[in-house]
Amino acid sequence: MSGGVLLIAEHLEGRVAPSTPELITTGRRLAAAFGGDERDARIVVLGSGVRDLANHLAGYTLDVLLVDHPALAEYTGDGYVQALRGIVESTAPRVVLVAHTSQGYDFAPALAGAMDLPLVTNCLALDVEGDRLIATRRLLNEKVQAQVEIRSERPIVVTVRPGAEKPVGPARGTMTVTDVPVSIDPSAVREKFVRLERPQVQDIDLSGADIIVSAGRGIQKKENLVLIEEFAKAIGGVVGASRPLTDMDWLPKTRQVGQSGKTVRPKLYVACGISGAMQHVAGMKDAGLIVAINTDPTAPIFEIAHVGFVADVLKLLPATLKELKR
Ligand SMILES: Cc1cc2nc3c(=O)[nH]c(=O)nc-3n(C[C@H](O)[C@H](O)[C@H](O)COP(=O)(O)OP(=O)(O)OC[C@H]3O[C@@H](n4cnc5c(N)ncnc54)[C@H](O)[C@@H]3O)c2cc1C
Repeated sequence: MSGGVLLIAEHLEGRVAPSTPELITTGRRLAAAFGGDERDARIVVLGSGVRDLANHLAGYTLDVLLVDHPALAEYTGDGYVQALRGIVESTAPRVVLVAHTSQGYDFAPALAGAMDLPLVTNCLALDVEGDRLIATRRLLNEKVQAQVEIRSERPIVVTVRPGAEKPVGPARGTMTVTDVPVSIDPSAVREKFVRLERPQVQDIDLSGADIIVSAGRGIQKKENLVLIEEFAKAIGGVVGASRPLTDMDWLPKTRQVGQSGKTVRPKLYVACGISGAMQHVAGMKDAGLIVAINTDPTAPIFEIAHVGFVADVLKLLPATLKELKR
């Protein structure tokens, strides 16, 4: 086995997906933990006419393997598996890292199945102990956190949950882009790309926001969302929510923070009238600064908040806005 970590880049319409810089952080850390250096983490870019993307990713100081093939113009699971098989065989990495996005969890299991490789999905953290990979995952509807140990002579395919790791920014150096020729049999690609459908709602991607002001059931009625929106705007943030609010359709599902919503890591997270149930906390506990506003001093949100206000959010926010406007 030649070792190292092989990352699979994700991109759409000429842009690198937000999960990819996060994957680079994980990949570099794992490559070092396996006893290698940065060059032992390589990233694969699959697509057609994606050389610019490959050059962009080389700016993150890791070597890029570019697979440019007309059959990869649009994503298909079968196309990706066909293209990646040869690369995984020839590079023989310790780990193949894929983001646990709808694309990633489509092709990663198919790749593992096609090559008879071990697979561990939806990981929150990855570590190395000796010759074992330790993957942290949540089980039983996310109620239990478990560590899975994998020891394998063969590459391990791993999907990592977006938001689990801080994204790395481009560095100064530039690494090499190597063209990798592949042969893809289009007749063996069973899926056909029809069209890209965007979500109906306008919507903001919470996972990339620096400031999130989230509303919970404590705001009491839908009309009070205006106040949350006004406050979020005043401090340059976007509005998130706890699950009851998206369940009641006060906000779209895309705004839900938590175990069954988005995992976010903003610089500032303001929880307004949110009790701090573990399913909510699972999605925001890694925010840089957590400010909680709640009338109940025993609310669990205060256990993880850096700054807490025992106050009525419907009074505190208008007063703060008044001050901000002055
Ligand atoms: C499988 C599963 C998955 C789940 N996934 C998620 C998820 O992804 N995200 C999520 O958020 N939840 C999720 N939940 C639901 C979760 O368990 C909680 O029910 C939910 O987070 C509670 O939302 P809340 O804090 O807004 O409401 P509540 O728990 O009702 O809390 C409202 C809070 O507002 C305070 N309050 C009331 N009035 C005011 C006021 N005027 N000013 C200030 N504070 C006030 C109260 O003291 C209280 O603490 C999930 C549950 C399950 C079982």
